Amino acid sequence: TVAVIGSINVDLHLLVDRLPGPGETLLGAGGTLSPGGKGANQAVAAARQGAAVLMVGAVGRDANAAAATELLRQSGVDLGLVAEVGGPTGLAVVTVDRKGENSIVVVPGANREVDTALVEAALPRLAGCDVVVLQGEVPPGTVEFALRALAGPAVRTVLNLAPVIPVAAEAMLAADVLIVNEHEAAEALAILSAAPSGLTGDPVADGGALVAALVAAGLGAAVVTLGARGAVLADGGQPVHVPAPEVAAVDTTGAGDAFVGAAAAALSRGAGLYEACTLATAVAAQTVTAHGAQQSYPWAENVQ
Ligand code: ADP
Repeated sequence: TVAVIGSINVDLHLLVDRLPGPGETLLGAGGTLSPGGKGANQAVAAARQGAAVLMVGAVGRDANAAAATELLRQSGVDLGLVAEVGGPTGLAVVTVDRKGENSIVVVPGANREVDTALVEAALPRLAGCDVVVLQGEVPPGTVEFALRALAGPAVRTVLNLAPVIPVAAEAMLAADVLIVNEHEAAEALAILSAAPSGLTGDPVADGGALVAALVAAGLGAAVVTLGARGAVLADGGQPVHVPAPEVAAVDTTGAGDAFVGAAAAALSRGAGLYEACTLATAVAAQTVTAHGAQQSYPWAENVQ
């Protein structure tokens, strides 16, 4: 089983000719709600790769809660530990203009209530999971509490520190696997008071330097994702590059989450980190060929 402790949102997409200025009213298009939130995205990705998935999170008692959880339900994710709390379901309003420039407002809402008490109540079930996944869209104290409480050999913890939030260095080092993109890797190293050496400007070589520095700083294993260049991982030893399949990209929204969810599913069935990243790059590449996040995530039988 994979457990995901994390955010559940609805995303509202708006299309405009240009982004509105202060006090301005513009006509736009779009307006559809789609399910999102990094935690929910990763849970859907893992479930579609065949893992039994338990979601730990929170939604509001509002109409958006149903839209936020629709694809979680459809993908067979266990929502028994998703709390209904006061305040709105998490909401991201994404406004995109003709040039592709965007402005985004995120209302964390119910995701703020994913607190240590909620995780503490879930611990008996989390302790029986193979893999527990965390990201940066719930309070830092929650991430720290979970990583500390689940340290030890029984559960593999995967920390996707996206966005980077101020978690204590010692809690970050309790994660068994850190998965981040290049920017997040640099910020994670800053939290660990470490730095990569020998950056050259070549993405793959620099990804290798970043994972090497993360492992040298004390992480058991680290993965740095490199967009169209795939990912570099280090599982104790030397950095290894996993290239991404070449695809015609139309929308990279949620690609990183698909990568994390698919990797977690593979790890939960006993795959090594290299094998997990190979599946993750195949799944993530496929998601960028279609629009949206969760709705673009393939089921295992459709992964090329
Ligand atoms: P994030 O979106 O979190 O910044 P990345 O841009 O590194 O993360 O993308 C995450 C993963 O998605 C990559 O490791 C890769 O496997 C896949 N991916 C992203 N963009 C592409 C692309 N253009 N072609 C193929 N795979 C891609």
